[in-house]
Amino acid sequence: MHEALILITVISLICSLILWRLLTAQNNKAQAAYSSHRKEHKGVLTKTKAERRELRLLLNAFDDALIITNSKGVIQVVNEASRALCDGRALRGNSVESAFIDKDICEHINNAINSTTPAKKKIVLTESSFGYSSTVTNSAWIIDSAPLPSQDEDTLHRIILRDVTTEHQTDQIKREFVANASHELRTPLAVISGYLENLIDDDVVDSPATARRFLTTIRKHSDRISKLIDEMLTISKLESGDGVQLSMQEFSLNDILSDITDRLAPMITAQNATINRSSRPPEIILTGDPFYWDQALFNLIENALKQNTENPITIDISAVQTDDARVEIQITDDGKGIPSMHVPYIFNRFYRVQKHHSQNKVKGTGLGLSIVKHAIEAHGGNISVTSEPGVFTTFRIISPLNH
Ligand code: ADP
Repeated sequence: MHEALILITVISLICSLILWRLLTAQNNKAQAAYSSHRKEHKGVLTKTKAERRELRLLLNAFDDALIITNSKGVIQVVNEASRALCDGRALRGNSVESAFIDKDICEHINNAINSTTPAKKKIVLTESSFGYSSTVTNSAWIIDSAPLPSQDEDTLHRIILRDVTTEHQTDQIKREFVANASHELRTPLAVISGYLENLIDDDVVDSPATARRFLTTIRKHSDRISKLIDEMLTISKLESGDGVQLSMQEFSLNDILSDITDRLAPMITAQNATINRSSRPPEIILTGDPFYWDQALFNLIENALKQNTENPITIDISAVQTDDARVEIQITDDGKGIPSMHVPYIFNRFYRVQKHHSQNKVKGTGLGLSIVKHAIEAHGGNISVTSEPGVFTTFRIISPLNH
């Protein structure tokens, strides 16, 4: 009996041991499976994260604003450029209308969303654009849209908003230039042909005094035409990508200024203008291309005169040689001045404060200051302007004495 009890105990101990081993093995297996699953899951997560980061990088690499909407116009995907365009407002999950508050833009985006074909459209916004606080005026945009192939029932649309304001402004300036240049060419040509007709038809050739008067007028107007053509050629040379060919030599700044005021003497006298000149030291010698220096300074002084014909003005021309081997030239007039909104643009070629010929009695093409800026910069210098309309306008040049 006692032996039987011992046997039963031993057997139950062996059974418990086997069971325990079995359970441990099972548990180990389950743990191994769990940790391999976790590893796998972690791997997938890391991969997804990396892919998302890559996608974000890719989207943000575009300068253009990109949005993807569903067919109801709810924004699904955006890039950094579109966030910046909308002043950082939350875009994802919102409607196009709440993101792009401009009515025109919304209308075009909604048209694009309703369209089944890709489309590109240029729009020009005259005032406020995308952001609540944006103050962009006259900006131009290309809205490039297309439905995206999708496995879902809902069609997605990608919309790219490209800022083409610079190109738009350049086109506008070119169009204005062609209008200005043809007007400026046509006016003297009409005068020339009128006087020629008179010369031929009215037998004025028999009256030498009248003929001379007519011929003098013809010469004046043909001079205007050649000035315009010269300016166009100069600007195209200065703007050519090969760099300006300067013919360097030493020259006296005072001599150039005296020559300019002599050439402008008829205008100075006719307008009863006063010219004050000062130079420190009295003789400043520059090394540069006297042709371009002459053109630059002539344009500045002539501008002061021709923009202010109504009242006699005073023009102060000062030149100072600085200790660091540079020259500072200031040309100041006390005429009508340049309104501050135009100041940033007046060195742009073809830019004129009075744009329309009908309003503009002052002759010009808008090339003068652009020539000045290019000429000074070609000598390593720079030019700036400050103006208080009705009080003063100062053009300030700083340039090395020897370029
Ligand atoms: P243009 O004289 O051929 O019109 P510019 O490039 O020389 O062209 O000048 C550009 C514009 O800048 C002028 O149309 C004029 O409105 C303005 N401007 C230049 N100089 C002066 C000045 N001294 N006073 C007032 N306005 C000026």
